[in-house]
Amino acid sequence: MHDSKEYDRKYRKNHKEEIAKRKKKYYEEHKNDEIYQEYHRKATLKSYWKNREKRIMQMRQWHRNLITQVITHYGGKCTCCGEAELLFLTLDHIDGQGAKHRKQFGGRYSGRKVYQWIIAQKYPKGFQVLCFNCNCGKARNNNVCPHKS
Ligand SMILES: [Zn+2]
Ligand SMILES: [Zn+2]
Repeated sequence: MHDSKEYDRKYRKNHKEEIAKRKKKYYEEHKNDEIYQEYHRKATLKSYWKNREKRIMQMRQWHRNLITQVITHYGGKCTCCGEAELLFLTLDHIDGQGAKHRKQFGGRYSGRKVYQWIIAQKYPKGFQVLCFNCNCGKARNNNVCPHKS
């Protein structure tokens, strides 16, 4: 009995170049067709978005690992109130000279550049972990968190 699938498989295996040539010819003949272009554009776009999402996910994961590493090194929770949810935590310059230092990194301490810098500097002294509340409170209250004044 004739097995068409098996035949197909063998045919494709034995005629690889021929098939590639035929595809190329088809492409050459149809590359100016609107429908073909549309199809091609959509296919490219689809893979672009698929990969883009994947790339963003990887970057996010990497960024998160970076932050976890640094925050954990500096105690892993808010030095003032004990908040331990990573998403609430940020790095703080203990002596309040943060603003000047922050300028090097585009004005904020939450960017990955700061975390990369800290790791490269082997975790310099002078930083502490604060939650965003305590961090903002401190900045608005002459460098002392309202919890403590
Ligand atoms: Zn806090
Ligand atoms: Zn506080």
